[in-house]
Amino acid sequence: MLSTPQIPTDIALAGRLQAVRARIEAAAIAFGRATAGITLLAVSKGQPVQRLQAAAALGLTEFGENYVNEAVPKIKALAGHKVRWHFIGRIQANKTRLITTHFDWVHGIDRIAVAQRLSEQRDPQMPPLNVCVQINIMFEQSKGGCAVASAPPLLDAILALPNLKLRGLMCMLPYAASEQVQHDGFGRMRKLFEQTQRRGIPLDTLSMGMSDDLEAAVVEGTTLLRIGTALFGPRPQPPPDLALP
Ligand SMILES: *Cc1c(COP(=O)(O)O)cnc(C)c1O
Repeated sequence: MLSTPQIPTDIALAGRLQAVRARIEAAAIAFGRATAGITLLAVSKGQPVQRLQAAAALGLTEFGENYVNEAVPKIKALAGHKVRWHFIGRIQANKTRLITTHFDWVHGIDRIAVAQRLSEQRDPQMPPLNVCVQINIMFEQSKGGCAVASAPPLLDAILALPNLKLRGLMCMLPYAASEQVQHDGFGRMRKLFEQTQRRGIPLDTLSMGMSDDLEAAVVEGTTLLRIGTALFGPRPQPPPDLALP
């Protein structure tokens, strides 16, 4: 990766955004699907506020953050922009109030206790918090996400919570997964998504695909790509929450 400090950020970002859109379009065209149903979520963890402002100025409206302490000041700094905030990190029980107060979406719900807290702590005057259930689709022991078999009762329980709006399913694949594993995992996500819809649960969001596996995700039916590195380049700052004890 080139280091280009003399090039203004927004030009580098504009170029990367164009490249990401071209990748999405190429994969969609090759598999005969429309790009219209694919939302691009800019994963801005580790990026300074100025880069988020540049991204918003380029028309990006969805931002994803993993660390609450890092995100809240950014959310406040971008208050003048019409953007939506997605919490995509691990949800610590003692952070649910901050999350549900400041975010529009939460992607990583994998147990009912967390969903209940988010609903209870959501200001009922605000629109409901949009949520996706994270699925541990590759049966990884160390990963978050609920097991496929546990998904139906969790989804049903979330539907009953007043201040949440159940939107869909989310997954992350193992680091550096082969193309075959990408298609296998994303394909199984799509099947679970469709089965759930057939049970009468109106899901509209399949949150899957990152910088390294977006083509497979497009082919397998993603509706929301979470893209960090391919948009912003390598992350410049270590996430501050990780530095805390
Ligand atoms: C960091 C992160 C991303 C973006 O990853 P890139 O490889 O930089 O595109 C997407 N989803 C989640 C949950 C993440 O933590």
